[in-house]
Amino acid sequence: MSKCPFCMIATHELPSEIIHEDEHVVAFMDVNPIADGHVLVIPRRHAENLHAIDPEDLQRVVVTAKRIAAVVQSELRPDGINLFQANGRGAGQTVFHLHMHVLPRSIDDGMPMSWDHKPGDRARIAEVAGILRGALARSETGIDMAEPVA
Ligand code: AMP
Ligand code: ZN
Repeated sequence: MSKCPFCMIATHELPSEIIHEDEHVVAFMDVNPIADGHVLVIPRRHAENLHAIDPEDLQRVVVTAKRIAAVVQSELRPDGINLFQANGRGAGQTVFHLHMHVLPRSIDDGMPMSWDHKPGDRARIAEVAGILRGALARSETGIDMAEPVA
């Protein structure tokens, strides 16, 4: 089986434009950027996705993404920034080592700004809220319940 490309970036076996690294996380430039300043933040320790990652590693990824977003904003002045993180093929994940995209946005970049805000069925919303409240109440932390997705 071929080695995970983002693990190889973390060990410098695969060349990349790393802009920050420490004991726990690595931040590097995306090779297919949607705009200048498109950066990926990864945990050094391999985890396939949100469901698999150690919560402390996730905190480090998010805090580092905040730091990267601050310098992207101050140095490159995009109109805005999205943080984006995909879990599973159905969500568009193509590299199966968790990564947080720092996505600089511009008003006219052609990407959707948000989804269509059409009112939902209130009864269904309440029903789903009940399902989730029940599941959260049954779990201690609510962070270890999902089946792995790919
Ligand atoms: P996702 O679709 O959320 O899984 O995003 C994967 C991202 O990784 C894409 O934006 C790719 O352009 C990026 N990517 C894949 N391989 C590399 C690489 N070797 N160096 C930098 N970025 C990469
Ligand atoms: Zn990996």
